[in-house]
Amino acid sequence: MVVDNLSNSSAEPLDRVSRLSGSKVTFYELDLRDISNLRQVFRSEAIEAVVHLAGLKSVGESVADPIKYYDNNVGSSVALTTVMSSCDVRTLVFSSSATVYGQADSPEYVESMAVAPANPYGHTKLTIEHLLQDLAGSSQHWRVCALRYFNPVGADESGAIGEDPVGVPANLFPYIAQVAIGKRRCLTVFGNDYATRDGTAVRDYIHVSDLAEGHLAALQKMPPEGNFFSAFNLGVGHGESVLDVIRAFEQASGVAIPYRLAARRPGDLAAYWANPAKAHELFGWRAKRGLQRACEDTWRWQVRNPDGYQSAANGSV
Ligand code: UDP
Repeated sequence: MVVDNLSNSSAEPLDRVSRLSGSKVTFYELDLRDISNLRQVFRSEAIEAVVHLAGLKSVGESVADPIKYYDNNVGSSVALTTVMSSCDVRTLVFSSSATVYGQADSPEYVESMAVAPANPYGHTKLTIEHLLQDLAGSSQHWRVCALRYFNPVGADESGAIGEDPVGVPANLFPYIAQVAIGKRRCLTVFGNDYATRDGTAVRDYIHVSDLAEGHLAALQKMPPEGNFFSAFNLGVGHGESVLDVIRAFEQASGVAIPYRLAARRPGDLAAYWANPAKAHELFGWRAKRGLQRACEDTWRWQVRNPDGYQSAANGSV
């Protein structure tokens, strides 16, 4: 059962999930902040646990309009946990972000490090973690895992479900995919003067299917005792540079990616990646798919859906 206000998405992927899984996904088009209707949903469905993925995620937009981010991200989490509490559902997996760490002394992020987000988006994710930690401390019935995503990329291997950004993609993978398919002429590489092996920034790119499996593992392996809150890194455990990603995508697609080197993007860090040992120890989870596989799956999705989910309406799928 899925609740979404479709503010940055469409219901089409849910139809595809139903088709791929052979099991109908019940969908409620609803904003989580609409408490009375959300309560109705909880009363009419048998819910044991919640995976809370709802939220706005653009760092730049959060700097320009912090109230929108606090209202959407924190407000929806307060509303959701209010309804969960009143309906006696107290098992939650929350989608947090590596952004909570901010500038750190080491590029390898580990959960025991201090957190200091550098932008409003990161502040909202950390505020929600605090809310959930406080809730877990307040009652022996709450069990919560906050999953700190690194850079989610790739697509479902079927090629039927993938990332469909509105307008010009702000992130590396969808931008490269649109250059490869001919929708955009050239990739801009933001910064080649970082202290990294080739001068371009380094990130931990994790395949979305590995990420999805991390959520299942958290739900299945979370300790049964209450008063539980813990945060876990979900990443592959090493970094790749922007040039590494370009080369991997060229290999996966067989298409040359024209790019130009430009100034650093304000706010970007040089390099960071996950230490994912904690998720492995507690959940037995680790990422199985690499960068090459993420590029292949992204390319399959892009070729089959040149106009994203609109492609279905245009008959391309
Ligand atoms: N990047 C780039 N060109 C783009 C988009 C991103 O060079 O058009 C770089 C960006 O500077 C960062 C990396 O690719 O070093 C990943 O950026 P993305 O926006 O995908 O994720 P972020 O790490 O910012 O969360």
